[in-house]
Amino acid sequence: MTWTGVHRFRCPTSLYYGRGAVAELGVQLSSLSVTRVLLISDPGLVAAGTVDVVRQAIEAAGLAVETYTETQPNPTTTNVHDAAALYDTTACDGIVGLGGGSSMDCAKGAGIIVSNGGWIGDYRGADLVAQRVPPLVCIPTTCGTGSEVTSVAVITDPDVDFKLVIVSPLIAADVGLVDPDLVQSAPPAVVASTGIDALAHAIESYVNRGSDPVLDALNIAAIEMIGTNLRSAVSNREPDAIAQVTLASMMAGIAFNMNGNAIVHAASTPVTARHHVPHGVANGIFLPAGLDVIAAGCTAKLGSIATALGEDVSDLTPAEAAAAGIASVRQLCADIGIPVTLRDWGIDPAQVDIPQLVEDAMKSRNIPTNPVSVGPDELTALYVTVVG
Ligand code: NAD
Repeated sequence: MTWTGVHRFRCPTSLYYGRGAVAELGVQLSSLSVTRVLLISDPGLVAAGTVDVVRQAIEAAGLAVETYTETQPNPTTTNVHDAAALYDTTACDGIVGLGGGSSMDCAKGAGIIVSNGGWIGDYRGADLVAQRVPPLVCIPTTCGTGSEVTSVAVITDPDVDFKLVIVSPLIAADVGLVDPDLVQSAPPAVVASTGIDALAHAIESYVNRGSDPVLDALNIAAIEMIGTNLRSAVSNREPDAIAQVTLASMMAGIAFNMNGNAIVHAASTPVTARHHVPHGVANGIFLPAGLDVIAAGCTAKLGSIATALGEDVSDLTPAEAAAAGIASVRQLCADIGIPVTLRDWGIDPAQVDIPQLVEDAMKSRNIPTNPVSVGPDELTALYVTVVG
């Protein structure tokens, strides 16, 4: 492919990545002039002992620390406002988000309220945050969302079962510490679902209308790393495999932070909000079927995805190579236990309101990014396929 035009690349977060990277925490907080930290996490990380380890590391650096550990999966507006209130009443001056996308997004959301006031829903959309969040360090413990490097926070409003997507460069972490050893305690199902989320990010950013040579390089490397390592990361919990998938997640996060995702995230997000399917599981269910819908607009790239996933496509036509790419993604999903349909996940098809999901999905910023035109007809067909 020959690239033309002017492209822009930006990664707003300083990143330390690799096993042991969390040891940077005290130095980084001090360099941000933080003296009292609000550590935001969730009950799973408390049970895993990770919250204690990180709290002790902060104290060992001579800093005071308060903890908010009530973050729910798909963090709620209540989580955000409770954490922000604790920040204010305990006079903190910096935030650490420790966990998967839920805890890191809760940390970003709390930071928005601390700096800007109001209700978190007021900031839904792009560039509506006026004041930068307080000093923020994000530490992922799953291998999927890339929230440690994105300018995005996803907060669920439980009153209307809708995910508020907030996008602003003013909410990106100052520092991301990507330490794969912290992912090791995640249950295999969490490694599977978040690893597939990372693959969805890499693929959707790669096939997206806004792709460019730098993003392509990050994404195709991430796809290869996930294809090579995700199966053993899930089945054997092999530390090196978990490390590769965790780094690939960060790389895909750097990429999709620039150009967004595509039909898979557009269609899956309303399902996670209305039917409480974990984010990564929903993306895994929608990934192969979503690629079928947009394949005509990204034939050559799907062939490159096939190669990155280890398929030999040298004797195939471009259309056959593209089909091999989607088949390889489908096989990877099956091998790590991702359900094929929402029915397989236990959702009664009679309870699924497809017109409502289509209406929600059409509000996504990941509709115009698709390599073919995607509208209500394409989304309806996708939902019919995926409901099962
Ligand atoms: P999660 O944060 O919801 O965590 C899932 C479960 O795994 C939780 O119960 C948690 O306690 C447990 N867990 C996490 N790490 C663990 C560990 N190391 N050991 C033991 N238990 C562990 O899962 P997620 O998939 O990382 O995040 C999903 C959220 O991220 C969704 O709300 C989604 O919308 C959002 N998201 C945000 C972005 C972004 O750029 N901000 C991108 C993608 C997704």
